[in-house]
Amino acid sequence: MNNSWEENVRRVVPYVPGEQPKETDIIKLNTNENPYPPSPAVQKILDGFDISRMRLYPTPDAEILVNAIAERYALKPSQVFVGVGSDDVISMAFLTFFNSGKPIFFPDITYSFYDVWADVYRIPYETKPLRPDFTIDPEDYKKPNGGIIFPNPNAPTGVLESVGMIEEIVRANPDSVVMIDEAYIDFGGESCLPLIEKYDNLLVIQTFSKSRSMAGMRIGYAMGSEKLIKYMNDVKFSINSYTMNTVTQLCGAAAVKDEEYFRSTVDKIVEMREITKNVLSDMGFTFPDSKSNFIFAKPPHKSAEYVFNELKKRGIYVRWWNKPIIKDYLRITIGTPNEMDKLIAALCWEGIINE
Ligand code: PMP
Repeated sequence: MNNSWEENVRRVVPYVPGEQPKETDIIKLNTNENPYPPSPAVQKILDGFDISRMRLYPTPDAEILVNAIAERYALKPSQVFVGVGSDDVISMAFLTFFNSGKPIFFPDITYSFYDVWADVYRIPYETKPLRPDFTIDPEDYKKPNGGIIFPNPNAPTGVLESVGMIEEIVRANPDSVVMIDEAYIDFGGESCLPLIEKYDNLLVIQTFSKSRSMAGMRIGYAMGSEKLIKYMNDVKFSINSYTMNTVTQLCGAAAVKDEEYFRSTVDKIVEMREITKNVLSDMGFTFPDSKSNFIFAKPPHKSAEYVFNELKKRGIYVRWWNKPIIKDYLRITIGTPNEMDKLIAALCWEGIINE
């Protein structure tokens, strides 16, 4: 049969998220989730939630959540855009701002969703090689382009760039929108957020999925000039007004207000990351310095693929990509001290990495 409608399908190769195994007795260090639960203030909201509120549509401008985020970062609510995880926010930003027909730029080793969004929206792109130490060369981003995006710290390397270097790139690109994806910034990086007051073309994107332990709730947000945020909302309201449900808005607002809990869990993860760096280094792993909640490490003696599979057999999930340059590395999310002990025991005492 001649299925001519198929000629007009928007064909895409979808993004492949990290595995979410069904078993619960595993050690899950493969998708950069936070090993600690969200703030107890979130539990309180859920316990007290009156389900009759579900009859009503949520506030379409997600006022409760937007106001809480604006207050936390000392911004006007009109400088904050929220979405269903930062994936939704970044996708909306691509659709809104990357329309010049010129290629957008991002690093060759980076979050592997960027090229998927570019493809689905038919946005041309060019990738720029990282230096051998996995840092970004700002000169690569000073050529004509239709927009720029990269994560800081970068994923999956964990490498942090300075605010000064980001400003250099933003300053060189007054004619395009520059997006900095700060999914992991809370784990020890300096945010470039203050620059949004100076540059109306800079969009800073963050998420509740990592430092606020709420990957399952799906909350992401973008902060930028009122102009940028208005343009994003215009597109969002042209597709789906009610992206943020009532329960999520309430839980998100409660989480962002609990600064003390946020600090305490982030501090625990950072401490564990530094301990893990020392142990991995003693074992012969090599890795770029990480300022995120994961370490991108190359095992000694054995291939990353071998170590990945051996760990998996023992119920320990880390992430490995069969891609040039990065196929020698494992991305290991920082878990609880107990989880990291088990990882180290498997690698070392069970002999996975031994010669
Ligand atoms: N940006 C980067 C760099 C990420 O690693 C992730 C997590 N996969 C995201 C954005 C999206 O996170 P979320 O949609 O959960 O906010």
